Amino acid sequence: MIIDGRAVAAQIRAELLSRTARFFENTGRRPTLAVVLIGDDPASAIYVRNKFKACAEAGIDSFDVRLPATVSTEEAEEEVRRLADKGTVDGILVQLPLPKHLDAERILAAIPTEKDVDGFSAQNIGALALGKRGTVACTPLGVMELLKRYNIGTCGKYAVVVGRSNIVGKPMALLLLNADATVTVCHSRTQNLKEECLKADILVAAAGRAGLITADMVKEGATVIDVGMNRAEGKLCGDVDFENVAKKAAFITPVPGGVGPMTVAMLLVNVCNAAEMRLK
Ligand code: NDP
Repeated sequence: MIIDGRAVAAQIRAELLSRTARFFENTGRRPTLAVVLIGDDPASAIYVRNKFKACAEAGIDSFDVRLPATVSTEEAEEEVRRLADKGTVDGILVQLPLPKHLDAERILAAIPTEKDVDGFSAQNIGALALGKRGTVACTPLGVMELLKRYNIGTCGKYAVVVGRSNIVGKPMALLLLNADATVTVCHSRTQNLKEECLKADILVAAAGRAGLITADMVKEGATVIDVGMNRAEGKLCGDVDFENVAKKAAFITPVPGGVGPMTVAMLLVNVCNAAEMRLK
């Protein structure tokens, strides 16, 4: 079965409409996302536009603060602090990647935990590691939501995550662990990637390498989640050889139309959660 991330994301946006309407009734304003966009990376501009479109469809207000590529770390930090102080801003997101000369860690650290809707802060990652309530990074959260909505159980399952980045692989592994899966994390130094992947009931590919996961690496009846977003011959593709792996997998996400739309949908959920929490 092909997991339809676009359909689930649309459903989530529709579900959020009643929450954002209730928030409006209570406060006279809508949950609000502020995006800091630095420089003129065309891909970032497209991502931000997509996020704003999705926000509008869920009844969330959004605006961007554009800073020139020449801005200093201190100036960018100052801008984030200004947004942090605004009572009408519920969520702040700094669109990555940043121009090379900037200290991304410092700029991100200026976002207060309760407005960190990307879930990248040390406090939010710490909460996840401790199995406590916090905001979780949108992409791995989106993967868990897909598993839930397709009734794919994780308890006692063997899960393999390929990739160990702070924004995808690590939080993905922690979420699966918190959901009672037995988790193995693979990376570029892993010996015998094929043997590790073959054990997986749930295989999450988040390496950013087109064609890395081939059919001979996948167990019959496994669930295969492809987080990868790569450009090959001008076309967007994942890390999984979809055509051949689909013949063996019980469930599989396509690229595009799988995890990508869920990332944006979970951002909206995180903004709503942040807004409601601040109201409380
Ligand atoms: P990073 O480059 O930060 O991390 C990639 C990870 O994959 C690293 O841990 C790396 O290992 C590992 N890796 C690389 N090559 C191999 C290999 N040959 N075998 C095993 N492991 C390997 O990427 P991100 O985590 O930021 O993103 C991963 C992918 O997901 C990208 O394609 C990205 O575009 C996509 N993405 C998609 C999103 C979506 O919404 N669908 C959102 C975010 C990302 P090591 O640590 O040893 O270097």
